[in-house]
Amino acid sequence: MAAMDPLPVDVSPFIPEGEGGPATPLDLPPAMGYCANQAAGGPIDPRRPETEARPSRAALDLSKRWPTGSKLHVGFLNGADAWGSRIRQAVRDIAPTWSDYADVAFDFDQPTAHITVNVLPLPQLGIGYGTYCSYLGSDCLGVVRQGGQPAMNLVFHPSLASDPAFLRAEFSRVILHEFGHALGFIHEHMRPDRPIVWDEAAANRVFGAPPNNWSPRTIREQIIDVYRGGPIEAGMFDPSSIMMYQFPAGLARYADGSPFVSPNNAALSPMDKVMANLAYPKAGVEQPAESALVAGDPPKAGAIAAAGQVARYRFRPARPGLFAIRAEGVTPLLLSVQRDRDSAAGRLYAAEGSNLSMTVRLTESRDYFVAVRHAKPLSGTGEFRISVRPAS
Ligand SMILES: [Zn+2]
Repeated sequence: MAAMDPLPVDVSPFIPEGEGGPATPLDLPPAMGYCANQAAGGPIDPRRPETEARPSRAALDLSKRWPTGSKLHVGFLNGADAWGSRIRQAVRDIAPTWSDYADVAFDFDQPTAHITVNVLPLPQLGIGYGTYCSYLGSDCLGVVRQGGQPAMNLVFHPSLASDPAFLRAEFSRVILHEFGHALGFIHEHMRPDRPIVWDEAAANRVFGAPPNNWSPRTIREQIIDVYRGGPIEAGMFDPSSIMMYQFPAGLARYADGSPFVSPNNAALSPMDKVMANLAYPKAGVEQPAESALVAGDPPKAGAIAAAGQVARYRFRPARPGLFAIRAEGVTPLLLSVQRDRDSAAGRLYAAEGSNLSMTVRLTESRDYFVAVRHAKPLSGTGEFRISVRPAS
């Protein structure tokens, strides 16, 4: 981890209420906004070339993790009016969802901040309605210390309130996504090992038009380019990740030619939850020893005896093929399998539920690593039975 001063910064003098300049006219219909994160996060300001010129980033940058067990102070810079208060309450309600999986707590009631949040248009900083972005992980604190701009922008348009169901979904989608950035997660579609090929001309047509009106350069930075920052920890490519934009068909294809499409993700995916727990495991928990699974053996009793524990197994297939990994019982679980014991390395797959059966293709006769977490890994405990059998 990079050297980091964990002390939060006093932000009370930053951007006094009401000095944001003239607000953007309320002429936009409710629409889903894209996160405009770039390079080191933060909005793109055409007047500041450095905000466009950096290489783009894409899963979780390990160099930007906060220390696990951190209590992060989140400071709202503004938004004491009715709409601002509604946004602030949504942040208080939704952001702590991450704390069910990552051992990081958010405290919204301190005069100091590790992460500053702006909820109003700030024309002098080039921040208008629909600006959603956040610096990555511990970079937030550097931005707070430097001053002059927010670490995170959540500038929801007031007209969104006209459709309460849409507003709820937008709050969930955007706030979970931006707090994902604040924990160090990068855009899923920009990770270096993504298995898709973009049609740049098609992306330019779609994102160059309203409501985004992005320049070809911005589209490269937001979508086409891959991450070139610090070391990345990532599971399998996950179209349902909260860190994935919603993409319609026609913009990218998988290697086999099939079209790439991603849904409107407003909740954390099973892989998001496992990755969050891998990056921020519960501090100070004694972990049980890993044990071996043998294909065809009767189900083996397992338990998560203490909050934060992860039950770990290894499995070596006699020959490559399809295998069903089953975790039986009523305990809600996160079940994952990965190729390397100590790194997801782009080869981690996860599923969530009770009485889970996960079929995976294991392509090598080598050890694979299975982990069983409670579905709320920071707080839950319970028992299960686990087994593996050939599925082909
Ligand atoms: Zn983003």
